[in-house]
Amino acid sequence: MLSDALGEVARGIENVEFACGVPHLLKGGFSEQAGTGVDVYSIRQPLGVVAGITPFNFPAMVPMWMFANAIACGNTFVLKPSEKDPSASMLIAEILHDAGVPGGVFNVVHGDRVAVDRMLENPGIAAVSFVGSTPIAEYVYATGSRHGKRVQALGGAKNHMVVLPDADLDMAADAAVSAAYGSAGERCMAVSVVVAVGGAADPLVDAIARRIAALRIGPGTDPESEMGPLVTREHRDRVAALIDSGEREGATLVVDGRDTAFAGDGFFLGVSLLDHVRPGMSVYDEEIFGPVLCVVRVDGFDDALRLVNDNPYGNGAAIFTRDGGAARRFQFEVSAGMVGVNVPIPVPVSYYSFGGWKRSLFGDSHMYGPDGVHFYTRAKVVTSRWPDPATSRVDLGFPQHR
Ligand code: NAD
Repeated sequence: MLSDALGEVARGIENVEFACGVPHLLKGGFSEQAGTGVDVYSIRQPLGVVAGITPFNFPAMVPMWMFANAIACGNTFVLKPSEKDPSASMLIAEILHDAGVPGGVFNVVHGDRVAVDRMLENPGIAAVSFVGSTPIAEYVYATGSRHGKRVQALGGAKNHMVVLPDADLDMAADAAVSAAYGSAGERCMAVSVVVAVGGAADPLVDAIARRIAALRIGPGTDPESEMGPLVTREHRDRVAALIDSGEREGATLVVDGRDTAFAGDGFFLGVSLLDHVRPGMSVYDEEIFGPVLCVVRVDGFDDALRLVNDNPYGNGAAIFTRDGGAARRFQFEVSAGMVGVNVPIPVPVSYYSFGGWKRSLFGDSHMYGPDGVHFYTRAKVVTSRWPDPATSRVDLGFPQHR
C-alpha cells in the first residue's frame, strides 16, 4: 500500500534523526577523586563491522532501525535484506552514497540462508542484528553466539488486543480493523487476536464485521486501496489453509476472505474474521501473518491476562478500556515487551527501543533507540592518576634547584 510504504519510510527516518544525536548518547560517566588523586571515567567505542539481516515486510524501515545507530556509533554495516524484496536496500545504498557516506561504510550483500550462514561464521563480523520469523531468529541467535558474536534477534508475534466491556467499542473496532488488516496483516505488530471480555464480544464482532464490508482491497499503487496483496503465492496459500483449519477445528467464520475475487495482478486474499477461537486451534497457536483476525471470548479481566501471558510470543499487547485501574494493572502484569493502552499497535518512537519478550526476541538488547546505541558499542572504563603539580617532582631532564 502506498500509504503504508510512506508511513514505513517516515518511521524509518525517525531512527536516522535519533542517530544524529549520538554524541549525547555516547557520553560516558566521570567520577572525580574515586581514590586519592584517581579519576574514573567510562567511554563507549564501536565494535567494528556489524551486520543486519532483515525480513521482507518492512524493506526500508527495519534496515533503518539498524544501520542509523550502527554507523553513527562508528561501525561499518553490512545489510543482508530479504531475497523477496531486495531493491529497497539498493535504493538506500544509492541515497547514502549521494549523501556522502564513504565507500565501505554501508554495504549490501544479497542472498538467502547461504549468505546468512557465511555471515554468522565470518570472524570479521562482530555483531548481528536480525529481524524475521521465530525459528530463524532462534537459529541466528544460537549460531551467531556460538561464533562469538553479539546477537540481537527479533522474531515473530501473536499480538493480543484485550477489549473490556467498558471500552469505547467504536474506537476498539476501528483499531482492530486497521491493526489486523493493515499491510494485509503482514506486520510483526499486527493485532492477530482480539480478546473480547464478557459483554464486549457480540457488539464488537458485529462492529468489526460491518467495517470489513467497507474495506477497499486493491493494488498497492492505487491510493484508494486500503489493503493490498500478500507477498508470495505460497504465503497466500498458507494463510488460506490456516483459515480452512480454523473452520475445521470449530471456529465460527464470520467473514470469509477466501472467496473474494480480485481483478489484476498479485496474490490477493480477502480479509477473514474468526470468532469463538480457542488455544489449541492452529489459527490461535500459529503466527498467520495475513489478513485474518481471531476473536477469543473470555469471562473476565484475569482470564484475558492469563491468556495473553500463556502465549509463547510476547511482542505487543494492547488493552481497550475506560478503566484506568484495569489499564494500569495490565501494563505492569502483561508479559509483552510493548504495551498499548487504547493504542492497538504500540510501536515505540525512535527515542525508546523496540523489542518483544519470550519467543519474540532472542538476546537481551531491544532494537534502535538507547538499546541500539548500547548494542553497537562496547564499554571501556579508564582509571587514571596524574602527579599533583604542587607536590610531585617532575624530572625535566636537568638538575633541579630545591
Ligand atoms: P524470515 O525469517 O523468513 O526471513 C528473515 C531473514 O532471514 C531474511 O533475510 C531471509 O533471507 C533469512 N532467512 C530465511 N530463512 C533462513 C534460514 N533457513 N537460515 C538463515 N536465514 C534465513 O522472515 P520473513 O518471512 O522475511 O518476515 C516475516 C517474519 O518476520 C514474521 O514472522 C514477522 O513476525 C517477523 N518480523 C518480526 C519483526 C519484529 O520486530 N519482531 C518485524 C518484522 C517482521
